Amino acid sequence: MIDFLIIGGGIAGLSAGARLSEHGSVTVLEAEDALGYHASGRSAALFEEGYGPPSVVALNKASAEFFFSNDYLTPRGLMLLAKSDQADQFRKDLGELGMAEISVPDALARVPVLNPETVAYAALSEGAYDIDTDRVLQDFARTIRANAGSVLTRQKVTRIRKDGHWLVEAAEAFQARTIVNAAGAWADEVARMAGIAPLGITPRRRSMARLPAPWGHDVKNWPMMLGAGETWYAKPDAGKLLVSPSEADPVEPHDAYADDMVLAEGLARYEEMVTSPVTRVETNWAGLRSFAPDGTLVLGPDPSDESFVWSAGQGGYGFQTAPAASRLVADLALGRAPELDAAMVSALSVSRLR
Ligand SMILES: Cc1cc2nc3c(=O)[nH]c(=O)nc-3n(C[C@H](O)[C@H](O)[C@H](O)COP(=O)(O)OP(=O)(O)OC[C@H]3O[C@@H](n4cnc5c(N)ncnc54)[C@H](O)[C@@H]3O)c2cc1C
Repeated sequence: MIDFLIIGGGIAGLSAGARLSEHGSVTVLEAEDALGYHASGRSAALFEEGYGPPSVVALNKASAEFFFSNDYLTPRGLMLLAKSDQADQFRKDLGELGMAEISVPDALARVPVLNPETVAYAALSEGAYDIDTDRVLQDFARTIRANAGSVLTRQKVTRIRKDGHWLVEAAEAFQARTIVNAAGAWADEVARMAGIAPLGITPRRRSMARLPAPWGHDVKNWPMMLGAGETWYAKPDAGKLLVSPSEADPVEPHDAYADDMVLAEGLARYEEMVTSPVTRVETNWAGLRSFAPDGTLVLGPDPSDESFVWSAGQGGYGFQTAPAASRLVADLALGRAPELDAAMVSALSVSRLR
């Protein structure tokens, strides 16, 4: 009998599994051939403490120490950019992200391809970092295995029953005391299978294009650039530039791919702010960011059955919140007093949505 059966081999499932493997037996079931195949393998890999609603910011802050002490972060910086007709949105974003306004010439000194004719406002935060997401995922999986747990791929859960304990059918059959639902875009589907009421978790597509470095610049030390109102962003990545239209279009759970029209419109919004034309897209992809109706994570046992624990609704914050979110999931699953403030625990609870 497994103590904690975790459904989903993305960052949510692996981080929760690593925490729980110190206290009981853990098995992670992932449907695909590889861990992190869906959202967790497609993210922009940014850590920005001020990004997200208050409960997400609380998780970001509580996660920082883990990332720093394990050397997972590299300084990146975040630059907010706005046109002359976006002054109000610029001020709003500036306040929410806690950024400092800089002059357009200073912005150009950091990113020489910015267009001084369209960029009217700029702000900079040095508190944004690249996360080594692959190493984070692999290290959590390693911790589970080191604690005698199992991480299994090609195990798509197709049936869940309860008869005193959980009976879960995938490529093999499993019996467990507790299920952790970390199925990302499929979290509601997994809940339904287990006879638990869904929470209205909505997958939202976000597309990404990889472009050659503009004018052949060395982009390594450029900050991530964000259009006011999160209408596009661009981020250096291994000598290239990733550009996203920042869309959040609701879709059914599926193996996501970029929407050509949405991508073209987003690239045009980016192109307006720079002097270098987009001549070639080397590759593109999309991932699903899955949100609860109120936009923040859902962490902890379901009130209708405490042996069904949610770790869902990670939205666009699944990596930067993972260390603290997984700690909270483990605290609640083990019946320990959470380290996180009670108001935040409640804002992240399942019962807030019931
Ligand atoms: C374009 C993009 C940019 C992003 N940028 C950032 C960023 O900069 N910083 C940040 O912190 N976050 C970012 N995110 C968000 C982050 O990637 C997600 O929040 C996070 O990866 C979600 O992790 P997860 O484990 O919940 O989901 P997933 O990684 O999708 O994992 C869920 C897993 O469950 C499996 N599964 C589903 N159903 C079953 C079943 N029945 N049986 C077995 N397995 C099943 C799936 O195969 C999947 O692998 C971004 C996301 C996208 C798409």
